Amino acid sequence: MIMNVPNGTMLAAVLHGARDVRLEEVPIPRLGPEDLLAKVKAASLDFTDRKVYLHGYHPMIQIPGLFGHEWAGIVVAAGERADPRWRPGMRVVAANSAPCNEPDPVGRCRPCQRGRLSMCERLLYNNGAFARYIRIPGRIVSVNLHELPPDIPFEEAVLAEPLACVMHAVRRVPLSNGDLVAIVGAGPIGLMFVSALRARYGRTIRIASLDHHDDRLALAETLGADGVLNTQSGLVRARMKDVLGLERPDVVVEAVGSEQAHREAFDLLGRGGTLVSFGGVARGTILPLDLHRLHYEEVQIVPIYHHTPADFADAVRAIVSRTVPVDRLITARLPLSELRTALGMVEERTALRTILFPHLPP
Ligand SMILES: [Zn+2]
Repeated sequence: MIMNVPNGTMLAAVLHGARDVRLEEVPIPRLGPEDLLAKVKAASLDFTDRKVYLHGYHPMIQIPGLFGHEWAGIVVAAGERADPRWRPGMRVVAANSAPCNEPDPVGRCRPCQRGRLSMCERLLYNNGAFARYIRIPGRIVSVNLHELPPDIPFEEAVLAEPLACVMHAVRRVPLSNGDLVAIVGAGPIGLMFVSALRARYGRTIRIASLDHHDDRLALAETLGADGVLNTQSGLVRARMKDVLGLERPDVVVEAVGSEQAHREAFDLLGRGGTLVSFGGVARGTILPLDLHRLHYEEVQIVPIYHHTPADFADAVRAIVSRTVPVDRLITARLPLSELRTALGMVEERTALRTILFPHLPP
């Protein structure tokens, strides 16, 4: 099926280097035989985008190159051999990647053969969310594209990608009845953890949210945290007892992305506990660990990177069913022309989540 592929150019953010992102008229992406073209109705940006912007580099973006990876929109065109179930006018959200996904297991990469799809050696990334249109490669269409019901706003669906990373952690770190969980960081990710864990386990676990900002902690409470701790003033362990009933949590989620927060999370853990290392840090960052404690207290560290198609599907379901009310995390809405303002907001942490609208006039 061939549909009308819009000809001509579109407005798009193009990354040229460190702190150098320009809004340019570029050709509307050309489609391969199995690809789809979507109109981007909403996009969002996260700390990965901020890092890419500051360093002017990402292994998955050729510079100069299209920028942005979280989006939702409407299918407008398809390549000649695209899956016919996708039709123009459909409201969709797609993940930013797809694993190698060879039909024959022998052809798959080693991590995919072992079911570790987020570690795929041939993970295909898709960039270009900060634009009026985006190409959806056939491989993503086949495993990581979902139709949205009419009542789900695009700006909420956009958050499926970061939520999928949280779902990945929820799946990889199963909890037991009565577990005490501390989440270090009440930014968008930390708050998604509170909500997703509460939804998954109900009141069978206790959740504490730790952050330096009282307004974020207040939101954590409304999303289901049993207690909150402003860690600015220290004395975390003593106050942890007031919040969780014990000084040492069984699971600590590091949702900040710093060496210091990792160290604090490790120190906080109880015997037999699990540190969920969610926040990414710069290459070469070293975490000094008390190996004695690691061994004799059987402390586990489970790093979480990216997501799998199953995690992404879980995230879309949680947003559509409003099990995880992501609308609470949206604190700013801007036209695409304000991309730089939006990047500044991520950097200064003045907004939880900023949504960009590529078709709004500047
Ligand atoms: Zn693979």
